[in-house]
Amino acid sequence: MPDIRSSFYDHIAQTSDAPMGLEIERAEGCYIHTTDGRSFVDLISGIAVSSLGHRHPNVIRAIKKQLDSHLHVMVYGEFIQKPQSEFAQLLCDQLPSQLDRVYFVNSGTEANEGALKLAKKSTGRSKFVAFRNSYHGDTHGSLSVTGRDVYRDPYLPLLPDVTFLDFNKPDQLSQIDDKTAAVITEPIQGEGGIIPANVDWLKALRKRCDETGAVLIFDEIQTGFFRTGSLFAFQHYNVVPDILCLAKAMGGGMPMGAFVSSSNRFEAFKHDPPLNHVTTFGGHPVSCAAAHANLQTLLEGNFEQKAFRIAEIACHMLRGEGITEVRGRGAMLGLQLRDADLTRKVVAYCFEKGIILGWTLHSNSLVRIAPPLIIEEELLEQCFQTIQEGIEEHR
Ligand code: PMP
Repeated sequence: MPDIRSSFYDHIAQTSDAPMGLEIERAEGCYIHTTDGRSFVDLISGIAVSSLGHRHPNVIRAIKKQLDSHLHVMVYGEFIQKPQSEFAQLLCDQLPSQLDRVYFVNSGTEANEGALKLAKKSTGRSKFVAFRNSYHGDTHGSLSVTGRDVYRDPYLPLLPDVTFLDFNKPDQLSQIDDKTAAVITEPIQGEGGIIPANVDWLKALRKRCDETGAVLIFDEIQTGFFRTGSLFAFQHYNVVPDILCLAKAMGGGMPMGAFVSSSNRFEAFKHDPPLNHVTTFGGHPVSCAAAHANLQTLLEGNFEQKAFRIAEIACHMLRGEGITEVRGRGAMLGLQLRDADLTRKVVAYCFEKGIILGWTLHSNSLVRIAPPLIIEEELLEQCFQTIQEGIEEHR
């Protein structure tokens, strides 16, 4: 019997020549423990997923309870399943009244795919507007609106009618017109390097969509569920989208995504033809049970305060030579370093010291910091201290 390491390298399809290759024993709270007896602080939360830490007891309890009742029973939208209905209710209770319908999917990119289709079908238009430097996922529709040529070029042709504008540039919004089905944006660009939208720009974007009838889609897949301090980032801006896309932290560690819109708009999925957007596993009962417990726990936990405190400590402790900027909001932070070489060395240094960090997909000179929101301040300070040491040693 080959060992697990060789099976991983021989049979798991790889997406880089240098996978991190940690062999996982278990994960609990802020820590990931490996089979060789090491423990790592997960300072990126499995990339903005484990906001309550790994294996939060409330989430585990809900999963176990659902396991004893039923697993998959029928494709999305046919049977009444308690975990789905209860979670949709709790989610919609937190949202503005026009966001009253949830379509559950299994991942972020699927949420965006659904949102793009819903915008097309509900407007009868086909043009999309997206932003340079954005990231919306790796399936064909989401990739079509992702603003980095290096990821798009190998897969051309993609969707034909996509216009890319510069993020945060109000004078370009006139390119949104009455042929535009939808405009898609992240309120804070994540993989593009943790770049927040300007309030005035986002308000102008909302206004232009209202003038032209274009659907405004917010991809809150990374920013959602208190990552940036409020439940959703759009609440900081006081700008409400027509479709809200969610995933990542939504399932408390289970695969889960959704796009949320109005009952009126979702009428478009019922007719011409009926069942024109279906999924087998979307809204899986175990994922919904986990998501419900996750959201309930988040709502009860003062996480707004905790996310802001994480930002405060980061800005206070991470400064000095080699650091150009600490940016982002709440617990979605980017530490901009002098260059890619220093960033690689600092990430490697922290890894050796037992801290998992990373960079973002589009920016190799930025250290991503997205700790579980439950992290104790003392542990966070120790981690930042280690990052500082790494910078001082290699700058
Ligand atoms: N949108 C954003 C903003 C993301 O950060 C991601 C994942 N990094 C996605 C979409 C895609 O999500 P998934 O990997 O679940 O398909």
